[in-house]
Amino acid sequence: MSIKELIRNHPDGLIASAFRFAEKAHSGQKRKSGEPYFNHVLAAAEILSSWRLDETIIAAGLLHDVVEDTAATLEDIKGEFGDEITFLVDGVSKLGRLKHRGEEAKVENLRKLILALSEDLRVIFIKLADRLHNMRTLNALPPQKQKRVAIETDEIYAPIAYRLGMQHLSGELQDLAFPHLCPKEDRWLRQTVSDKYEERLRYLERIKPTLKTALEKHNLNPFSIDFRAKRWSSLYKKLLRYDMDIDKIYDLVAMRIIFLNTEECYAALGIVHHLWPPLPGRIKDFIAMPKPNGYRSLHTTVIGPGEKFIEIQIRTKEMHEEDENGIAAHWLYAQDKTKSNAFRKPAHELKKEVGWVHELRAWQEYHDSKEGYEEFLKSMKIDFFKDRIFAITPKGDVIDLPAGSTPVDFAYQIHSEIGDACVGAKVNDNIVPLNYELRSGDLVQILTQKNKKPSEDWLKFAKTSIARDRIKAALREKRGAIGQKKTPSKAELKIVSEDRIGLIKDISSVIARSHINILNIRATTNPGSRYAIDKIQCATADKNKIEKIILKLKKVKGVKEISYRLI
Ligand code: MN
Repeated sequence: MSIKELIRNHPDGLIASAFRFAEKAHSGQKRKSGEPYFNHVLAAAEILSSWRLDETIIAAGLLHDVVEDTAATLEDIKGEFGDEITFLVDGVSKLGRLKHRGEEAKVENLRKLILALSEDLRVIFIKLADRLHNMRTLNALPPQKQKRVAIETDEIYAPIAYRLGMQHLSGELQDLAFPHLCPKEDRWLRQTVSDKYEERLRYLERIKPTLKTALEKHNLNPFSIDFRAKRWSSLYKKLLRYDMDIDKIYDLVAMRIIFLNTEECYAALGIVHHLWPPLPGRIKDFIAMPKPNGYRSLHTTVIGPGEKFIEIQIRTKEMHEEDENGIAAHWLYAQDKTKSNAFRKPAHELKKEVGWVHELRAWQEYHDSKEGYEEFLKSMKIDFFKDRIFAITPKGDVIDLPAGSTPVDFAYQIHSEIGDACVGAKVNDNIVPLNYELRSGDLVQILTQKNKKPSEDWLKFAKTSIARDRIKAALREKRGAIGQKKTPSKAELKIVSEDRIGLIKDISSVIARSHINILNIRATTNPGSRYAIDKIQCATADKNKIEKIILKLKKVKGVKEISYRLI
């Protein structure tokens, strides 16, 4: 609902009085663009409302610049609106002007944000809404400043939004920053992609009825079928990995099917695969195994009419909403007690989920049933972030861990090899023991040594299951127990290509030219399909060599997709 509508519904409500207060306080002030300043705070409040946050947050959003930029004081706000809103406005003002000046400042800013976040998540929502509107109106600033704000957004705000599961926001922030960070690349992309993009859209529109009919024949009525264009900034990153060949990006525009319950999603996946053959190795079940930030969806790439690849994403409305709004969506669930059960997941499914966003939700549902929303909000502020810490790498990446985690957990969270090779740690520049208990905002640097193996002692203090599992596995290897994994000695390449005469010969000669022996070739072609899948075993397990060959093989005519595993 728009702010105007909210005010019309409750002319004497909190939002209405915050609106009047802010409008008066900012009167006469202008933004760089010449617009009234009040437009900015109103826009930020509209964004908060679009995330369907509650009226306290929206009112604080309207007031977020009053203390910083007008004659009004915190005392004035306190007198008018009470402690809670004052606390939020103060929180946002304190975060105030984070300045991006080099790597050190970035880490410092992150630390400030994280501390604010662990104190009260609502402050971050307001800050993110504020930043989103500033990015949407960035062109009004002088170029030098534009770039600074864009860097800060790309390096601090977009990752924080991503961490909070607000992927949609995170993507929009990155897209808005991209033209300022990489202007040349942005122009190139716009010229190269726009035709392709239109063509893909028309194609998907054309095949949508076929899909719809097939689903309906099995009594599956999607809530919606739409198309989502790949994000600009992530498209560019992907192109870099695919030889800048736009034809290799199957998900330039993906089709998105949304249902009300999970069972329908899996059923629809089956029907899609019956309709169009799936591309091997591209079926991803992020419902059974969500991404670490909580993202859930089914993904598949199929070979559609005219032999074109289509990426299809299938998910429930609830998953979709979470994908867009992440943690903000939890407020919605907490408030909306009357919603149908179709949006709720059965308890056994919740258990399978990983990622703190989902822990948060399970936890919220527990409170939801017992004490209600007020209590949830209170305990969320107090308890949840007590159980979670956010530590920072020297490069400024945020690593979230359960409270009580140690540098060993931190190291394994970054990468299992870093965990295995860990010999010591520095926290905020001081050497600490490996069983040191980390705290939110700690800057952690892991010291490593080649060929180091984990020690049994670590199991006494390692907290996360990732670290514990990995330590145990490494210990088993060390003891040479039965069932020990042998080191791989060869690689199996899987190549999907458009079948043609001489293809295998071309592929094998590329491999032979790199002085690698081929041990075995298995080819499969599906009758009626133009695509062939070749599995080729090579006598090397050297990742570098294999990745180099893959780059060369991708240039062979007809080759569409290559993956490999070590065996
Ligand atoms: Mn602002």
